[in-house]
Amino acid sequence: MKKVVKFGGSSLASAEQFKKAADIVRSDADRRYVIPSAPGKRNSGDKKVTDMLYACYALAEKDRNFDVALADIKARYDEIIHGLGLDFSLADDFKEIEENFKNKAGSMYAASRGEYLNGKIMAEYLGFTFVDSAEVVRFKENGDFDSETTNKLMAARLADIETAVVPGFFGADDKGNIVTFSRGGSDITGSIVSRAVKADVYENWTDVSGFMIADPRIISHPQSISMITYTELRELAYMGASVLHEDSIFPVRKEGIPINIRNTNKPEDEGTWIVESTARKSKYTITGIAGKKGFCCVNISKDMMNSEVGFVRKVLQAFEDHQISIEHVPSGIDTMTVFVHEDEFISKEQAVVSEIHRLAKPDMLEIESDLGLIAVVGRGMKSTRGTAGRIFSALAHANVNVRMIDQGSSELNIIIGVENRDFEKAIRAIYDIFVETQL
Ligand code: ASP
Repeated sequence: MKKVVKFGGSSLASAEQFKKAADIVRSDADRRYVIPSAPGKRNSGDKKVTDMLYACYALAEKDRNFDVALADIKARYDEIIHGLGLDFSLADDFKEIEENFKNKAGSMYAASRGEYLNGKIMAEYLGFTFVDSAEVVRFKENGDFDSETTNKLMAARLADIETAVVPGFFGADDKGNIVTFSRGGSDITGSIVSRAVKADVYENWTDVSGFMIADPRIISHPQSISMITYTELRELAYMGASVLHEDSIFPVRKEGIPINIRNTNKPEDEGTWIVESTARKSKYTITGIAGKKGFCCVNISKDMMNSEVGFVRKVLQAFEDHQISIEHVPSGIDTMTVFVHEDEFISKEQAVVSEIHRLAKPDMLEIESDLGLIAVVGRGMKSTRGTAGRIFSALAHANVNVRMIDQGSSELNIIIGVENRDFEKAIRAIYDIFVETQL
């Protein structure tokens, strides 16, 4: 068996956390490839090293003195090194970083050092080989990730290495310039390594025991999800679940490798398994509920819309021309509604409205704001009668006015639009009906 293990920032925030992570690696000889994040927060008032690096580099870029800011970062690492009792120093690395900051090496370079240095410590502590991600994770000149080149480079590099540490979050273009993924991107590196070494499982260690059925800020102590498919997760992720970077699904999915989300502080918990497909039924009809507030909708109507060829395209064109992404487009015979993110839309709304008028000549157009969208997701829904009925009767009992309903063609999800003020109440009602009362 081969396992790739990625540790998030809170799992490596201090020497104490580092020890827990190392114990996890050492307790299973199959855990051969380790992907560290940069040190995260040690407590809620603390700073993430990645944020400290961005701030420090911002000073360097403006030719301001950054000695103190860099010394603070070094202190974070020194505390870990001493806490682990290592005879090891990053002094030379920090000299090089200082030099590169003075030479304006770029904010991506700056941010990447968080993972790079943590990787060096981890490799030293575990006695694993350190592999610099700049050599094996490749980005194209336009900044896009080059997945196929990376897969070849990574597979070739790791082929003869029994145990390695590969820092997360960054790589380089073919000129050697450091490029990072978006925030939280160490998850993607873990997935890339898993694909390259054809791992049996990609373990992603964080500070929660997997995904919860619903947001714990809305439902107190929600049940956790023991198994979820990639597709279900996509439906939930795009509505705002934040445990795993959404792009990290793609590399492992290509190889059918399962992801296991685990809790560094509770290693005995099974966590959540993310799999391609499963015969295992989820405990409840639904797998999860997720949602987001802050949507607007544009309602458009025109007599005989249904027989006018190209009407929908013209309307959508107006949004595309203003670079506004569309969330949902429910429609009737002579009406259609376009849901968009309020913050993306609001500054361009009048321009979009006039373009819709110009292109599509609707009879009526009206904008509504302060809407929330809720996705109820579950692979079990397809084969269970009455799921929609239960959702809507629960919402009616809770006095929630449903503004929009959209069932994905996969029958994996039902999207419900409600007013922002009903958002939490609606999620509670749906959770209660499926999980608490287990109907
Ligand atoms: N350290 C980076 C961040 O804070 C990447 C990561 O942790 O995945 O976003």
